[in-house]
Amino acid sequence: MGLKLFNTLSRSIEPFQPLDPEGRKVGMYCCGPTVHDFAHIGNFRTFVLSDLVRRYLGFKGFEVRHVMNITDVEDKIIARVKASGTTLGAYTKKYEDAFLNDLEELRCESPHDMPRATEHMPSIIDLIARLVERGVAYAAKDGSVYFSIGKYQEAGCCYGQLQKLDFDQMRPGERVQSDEYAKDAIADFALWKARTEGDGEVFWESPWGQGRPGWHVECSAMSMQYLGTSFDLHLGGEDLKFPHHEDEIAQSEGAGVQEQGQRFVKHWVHGSHLQVEGKKMSKSLGNFFTLRDLLDKGFNGREIRFVLISAHYRETFNFTIEGLNGARAALGRLDECLFKLKQQAGDASAEVGSELTAKFEAAMDDDLNVSAAWAAVFEWVRDTNRQLADQTMTPVMAAAQLKAWEQVDSVLGMGVEEQGDDTPEEILSLADQRQQARKDKNWAEADRLRDELKSKGWVIEDTPNGPRPKRI
Ligand code: AMP
Ligand code: ZN
Repeated sequence: MGLKLFNTLSRSIEPFQPLDPEGRKVGMYCCGPTVHDFAHIGNFRTFVLSDLVRRYLGFKGFEVRHVMNITDVEDKIIARVKASGTTLGAYTKKYEDAFLNDLEELRCESPHDMPRATEHMPSIIDLIARLVERGVAYAAKDGSVYFSIGKYQEAGCCYGQLQKLDFDQMRPGERVQSDEYAKDAIADFALWKARTEGDGEVFWESPWGQGRPGWHVECSAMSMQYLGTSFDLHLGGEDLKFPHHEDEIAQSEGAGVQEQGQRFVKHWVHGSHLQVEGKKMSKSLGNFFTLRDLLDKGFNGREIRFVLISAHYRETFNFTIEGLNGARAALGRLDECLFKLKQQAGDASAEVGSELTAKFEAAMDDDLNVSAAWAAVFEWVRDTNRQLADQTMTPVMAAAQLKAWEQVDSVLGMGVEEQGDDTPEEILSLADQRQQARKDKNWAEADRLRDELKSKGWVIEDTPNGPRPKRI
C-alpha cells in the first residue's frame, strides 16, 4: 500500500508521489526554530513530527533530504541582543546549541542541512531583487522592500491558498509598526527591513541600503537553494499556514523560477498544536515547559518523544504530567516484552519480521495514523507476552518478532532499553549476595537480602538466563 497524506493545499488526503521521475528521491523542508530562547515542547511536537515523517519516508524506501533552517536574525532576537549587550552570533549560538541538544535528546535524526539565515544573505538578496525586477515587490522611501499582494494578484496569482483569508482583517497588528507605514497596502509584507537605530550592529549591505531580511523570505530562499525551485514536502506547525507559508508561496512562485506547471511545494503538511489545559502551549501565555523543565522533573527524552508522537499529528493534543507517567508505564511494558523476547531468541536470527510490521505500515500509510500504529504495537506486546507465558514461542519466532520491532522502531525511534543497564550497583551487589547465600544454603540470609531488595523497590525474577533484579 502507498502512503497517503493530508495536503493543506488541497485540503484532502492524497497519495504521496514524489516529483522525482524515478519516484525515489524526496526533498522535505521544515521551518526551524527562531533561536531567541529555549524551545518549548510544543515547538518540539512539530520537530518530532518532521522526524517521524522523515523516518517513515525512509521506511517506505525513499531517499530523503531533510532541510531545516535556523532563524538566527529576527525582531525578538535583535531586541534580546541589544538588551544583553552581546553580539548576534554569541547570543544565538547558546540557543542553537541547546536546541540541537534537545533534538538529540528526543532521538530526532539530525536534518541533512541546517542553513542559518545570516549565512545566506546573497541568496536572500538575489530573490528579493528578482521579485523587484518582476514588479511584484517595491522599495519604499526608507530603504525597506515590500512584497505587493496587489501586483501578485494582478499577475494572475492567488494569495490565500493554504487558508481562506479575510483581506480586511489581515495583519492588523503590523499597522502600528513604524517601519510598515511606508507600505502601499496594508496586506503587503516586508522582504527587506531598512536598518533602524534599534538594530544596533545587526545589518547587512544590500542594493536598497543597509538592513536585514524579513523572516518569510529567508525560508523561500534557503529551501529553494537546498532543494530546488520545486520540492516535495514542506512542514511546520499550523500557526505557520498564514502568514508565513502563504508568503513563502507568494515569494517563491512570484519569482517565476519554477518549471512550467510546477508548484513551489507539492505537499504541505501542518501539525496541530500541543495544548496545556485546552490552550496552545506558548511563550506568550506562559503555560509552557521546555525540555529541560521536564528532564529536571526526572523524565527522559525517550518518554517525552513517546508522548509527542502518541497522537495523530492533525489532532490537538493536551499535554499533562500524568500523560508522561503513563508513557513511562507503557514503555516499561514494551521493554519488559522486548527483554523476554531477546532471552527467548538467544542466538536465533530472522531475516523477515512478523505481522506487526504490516499492521504498523497500514496504520502509518493512512495519513501517518500513529495512534493506530501504537495500538498495533501494544496489541502485539499483549499477544507476545501470552505466547511467551504459554511457551508457544520458539527462538526463531522470537527472533522474527524482534526483527519486526527493529523495523517499526526505525520510525518510532524508541530503541530497546537494555534492562539491567539502569540497575544501580548497590542493587546488583545485593542480588549477587543473595544468589551466593542461596548457593551456600544460607536461607535466612537469602530471605533477609530479598527483604532488603524489596524495601528498596526491587524483586528478583527468575529468567532463562538466571535470576535478575526487576523494579517492583
Ligand atoms: P518558532 O521557533 O516560534 O518559529 O516555532 C517553531 C515551530 O514550532 C513552528 O513550526 C511552530 O509552528 C511550532 N509551534 C509553536 N507552538 C507550538 C505548539 N504549541 N504546538 C506545536 N507546535 C508549535
Ligand atoms: Zn519557514
